Amino acid sequence: MTEVQLQEFKLDPDSELRFEVESKNEKVVLEVKSGYAELFGTELVKGKPYEFHTGAKVAVFTWHGCTVELRGRTEVSYVAKETPMVVYLNVHAALEQQRVAAEQENTRGPVTMIVGPGDVGKSTLTRILLNYAVRMGRRPIYVDLDVGQGQISVPGTIGALLVERPASIEEGFSQQAPLVYHFGHKSPEENLELYNTIVSRLAEVVAERCENNKKETDSASTSGVIINTCGWIKHAGYKMLTHAAQAFEVDVILVLDNERLYNELKRDMPKFVKVVYLPKSGGVVERSTAARAEVRDARIREYFYGKRTPYYPHSFDVKFSDLKIYKVGAPSLPDSCMPLGMRAEDALTKLVAVQPSAALAHRLLAVTLAAGPDDDVLASNLAGLVTVTAVDMERQTLTILSPQPRPLPNTILLLSELQYMDNH
Ligand code: ADP
Repeated sequence: MTEVQLQEFKLDPDSELRFEVESKNEKVVLEVKSGYAELFGTELVKGKPYEFHTGAKVAVFTWHGCTVELRGRTEVSYVAKETPMVVYLNVHAALEQQRVAAEQENTRGPVTMIVGPGDVGKSTLTRILLNYAVRMGRRPIYVDLDVGQGQISVPGTIGALLVERPASIEEGFSQQAPLVYHFGHKSPEENLELYNTIVSRLAEVVAERCENNKKETDSASTSGVIINTCGWIKHAGYKMLTHAAQAFEVDVILVLDNERLYNELKRDMPKFVKVVYLPKSGGVVERSTAARAEVRDARIREYFYGKRTPYYPHSFDVKFSDLKIYKVGAPSLPDSCMPLGMRAEDALTKLVAVQPSAALAHRLLAVTLAAGPDDDVLASNLAGLVTVTAVDMERQTLTILSPQPRPLPNTILLLSELQYMDNH
């Protein structure tokens, strides 16, 4: 049911206004009229209008009480008094104590990993904890291992970002100089060997950066790391989580809303890892497979065209002969058929040359920074991603949509399974 156009809400301390924008091409404007409020940990400025579009699912929380106005049609809007925000604030306070200890002892800050099934608010809690940390003057590293959503860069990649400012209400965290690695699928399940390889690589580089920062009198190494993960937690998914925990040498694992996972991790993690169970917020909205696919598409569109601040991507032709395109993973053979000293799993991280063809249309290509195909291509972080908008077999060219003007910064490209239809 669609509700009225102008609504005003009086929020008591410790409560939140939740709303969703569902209808197509709808816009809802939010304004704080009095008091103080925050949105997933970012403070809202009084009297400033904030716009939300189709698909937005939002909570405006207040510690002290406030009045909020919504203009436009919301699908749902209600005030909730029961929220886990005090519990989340306590987690932040505990992390903050570890940062202070890290400063005093000149060690690294807490490395925290957030786990749980899908749609329990993992990404939201990641954002809240990062925001609270920067609001205290910290500079935490944000790591996103969720290839299904790809909040840093695009879906099909994992990445890390130094967070120096709170997330913008409408655009999220500033995406300056992220460290991004290619995976090429929507779920780790598609190639666990590759997934674990790039997770280990990312962990190595993040640890190196923390180590380097330690020498400077800067807070990046004592601020710690916050890692978001995907919602696949059973069987091989569980192994993947424990691998990530080991690779990043996590100190804290926050388990949202799954007692079984909590107990398994408590049993299997070394004693020095604190495993903490946290309730999920009643406001977290479950998304259908279709809604997830829409979020993925929207994320890729944003990568090329921006969200609030528009970007102007470039379109140009590249000759087949000027490119070397590879996909990762050769069909795996039984161990008995492998050359001596190679495991069957090794095939899963092998580069296989791809001949350009019409099948490349609409696919994403990751532009690597590798010096050559013999270089460790998977270990090289990405310069960025492009999408193929057209293939001309006669002229032997690809038309490419790229955030950067021509030429491509490198000719070694990795093919992603993800697609983007550019009908902007
Ligand atoms: P996960 O990362 O576990 O899949 P998300 O953090 O992405 O879950 O949350 C799922 C959806 O619920 C998102 O669209 C998010 O904006 C929304 N959401 C999270 N917390 C709240 C809340 N307290 N009120 C309303 N919506 C929320």
